[in-house]
Amino acid sequence: AESYPNVKRDERYATLEQSDIDYFKSILPENALIQDQDDLLFYNEDWMRKYRGQSKLTLKPKTTEQVSQILKYANERNLAVVPQGGNTGLVGGSVPVFDEIVLSLANMNKIRSLDTTSGIFKADSGVVLEVADQHLAENGYIFPLDLGAKGSCHIGGTVATNAGGLRLLRYGSLHGSVLGLEVVLANGKIVSSIDALRKDNTGYDLKQLFIGSEGTLGVITGLSILCPPRPKNFNVAFLGVESYEAVMKTFVKAKSELGEILSAFEFMDESCQELAKKHLKTAYPLEEQHPFYILIETSGSNGEHDLEKLEAFLESAFENEVIQDGVIAQDETQLKGLWNWREQIPEACQINGGVYKYDVSLPLSDLYGLVDAARERLTQAGLLGDTEDFPVIDAVGYGHVGDGNLHLNVAVRRYEKSVEKALEPFVYEWVSSKKGSISAEHGLGFQKKNYIGYTKSQPEIEMMKQLKQLYDPNAILNPYKYI
Ligand code: FAD
Repeated sequence: AESYPNVKRDERYATLEQSDIDYFKSILPENALIQDQDDLLFYNEDWMRKYRGQSKLTLKPKTTEQVSQILKYANERNLAVVPQGGNTGLVGGSVPVFDEIVLSLANMNKIRSLDTTSGIFKADSGVVLEVADQHLAENGYIFPLDLGAKGSCHIGGTVATNAGGLRLLRYGSLHGSVLGLEVVLANGKIVSSIDALRKDNTGYDLKQLFIGSEGTLGVITGLSILCPPRPKNFNVAFLGVESYEAVMKTFVKAKSELGEILSAFEFMDESCQELAKKHLKTAYPLEEQHPFYILIETSGSNGEHDLEKLEAFLESAFENEVIQDGVIAQDETQLKGLWNWREQIPEACQINGGVYKYDVSLPLSDLYGLVDAARERLTQAGLLGDTEDFPVIDAVGYGHVGDGNLHLNVAVRRYEKSVEKALEPFVYEWVSSKKGSISAEHGLGFQKKNYIGYTKSQPEIEMMKQLKQLYDPNAILNPYKYI
C-alpha cells in the first residue's frame, strides 16, 4: 500500500489508552473489539490495496445506542473515528490515515421491515446490498441500486457515498429514493427521519446532507428506501461497435426505441476487455474484436414483448450499420456471463499490481477524449509499455455512459509516484476544462480532497466547511479527508 505523503498526524487528537479500551469493553460485547494486528489488516487497508492506516482498534457495535455511546465518548476524548461499511470504497475514504478508531457497521445487519404495498424498505445500514436485494426479490421488489461490489458493500455505505451504479439510468439517484435516515452525530445524538413517508415538505430535507457525506457529518445506522417492483424479465445484449461516436449513436437509438424498458447502458473499450479476458479466462461472447463494446439491459413485465423490442432494435441497428456485432443472452447463466464482462473490469484492472481510478462525469461528446488524453500523456512520459520496465500496463475506459459517467482506470504493475504525478492534477484539469465533475459517484475520500475546487466553487466549499464545523466541531469524524 501507498503511504500517505504530505500529511501529518493532527496532534489535537488523543491517542488510544487502556482506559479507552476498558470503556469500550464496558459498553460492547467482547467480540465487538478487534485489536489483533492480523485481524485489523482488513479494516486498515482499502479495496485497491492503495491506502493503509495504522489503527489499533476496530469497534463493531450491534445497536444504534452503542454507536451513540462510542461517539459521545470519542468526542469527549478527542479520539478520531473512521466509519466503515463494507470497505469497498474506491477513494481511500473508508480506512484510517493514522491511528483513528475504525467504527465498522458490519454487525448492524438487521432488516427491519418491508411494506409490501408501498415498497418502503427499512434496514440497519450494515446489511450487505446483495442480502437486501435478495430479501426484496422474495417479495417482488428490487433495490433501486446495483453495483459490482454488491456482495460486500453495505446499503449504509452506498448511501454514505451516494453510489450511482448500474441502474441509475432507470431508478435515479439515492437522493431521490432514500426516504429517511437514522444518523448518529459526532456528539452521540441520534437523529432519525427513518419513518418519513414519500412526501414530506416540513422544513429542510436534512437527510440529504448525509447522503454522500462519506462519514464526515455523522454515522448512518439505519435507512428507509423506496423500492420499485422487481421487473419480471431481464434481457441483456452485448454489442461490438467501431467507434466512440457509434456508442453515442447506439445510446440515442436505445433511448428512443427501448425507452421504458431500458435499465442499463454500459460501455467498455477494447483495452479494458483485453484485461478482462486475461482475468476471466472464459470464452468471449463475440468472435471479432471491436474498438468499443456496449452492454444493454432491458427489464420489464412482459418477457416476450421486451425480447421482441430488443431484437427489433438490434436488427435495425445492424441494418443502419450503427453496430457491427451483437449477441443476446438466451438464459440466466448467459445473462450473468455477459454482465461479468462489465462487472469484473475493476478487478481485472487491479490484479496485476494496482490501479489508479478516476471516476468522472463529462458531457457525452467529450467523455472518451479523457482516456485518449491520459494514454497519450503516460506514453509520452515513458511510463506505459508492454514490459516490466514500465509501471503502467494500460489506460482504459468504461462506465455508465447513459449517465455521462466515465471510469478511467490506469492499470499498473506497481504503484509509483511518477504515475500519480503524470495523472494528477492533469486528469482533474482536463475534466474541469470540459465543465465535468472530478467525482461522478465514488466521492472525494482521501484521493480527491485537494481537488474539490476543480468542481465546486469557493462559496460552496465554504458552506461545506461551516456544516462540518457545526455538526462535528472537534472534527473527530473521518479526518484528513473530503474537505
Ligand atoms: P465503505 O467503502 O466502507 O465506505 C465508503 C465511505 O462511506 C467512507 O468514507 C466511509 O467512512 C463512509 N461510510 C461507510 N458506511 C458508513 C455509515 N454507515 N455511516 C457513515 N459513513 C459511512 N460505486 C458507484 O457509485 N458505482 C459503481 O458502479 C461502483 N462499482 C464498484 C465496483 C467494485 C468492484 C467496487 C470495489 C466498488 C464500486 N463502487 C461503485 C464504489 C462504491 O463507493 C462502493 O462499492 C460503495 O458505495 C461503498 O460501500 P461500502 O459499504 O463498502 O462503504
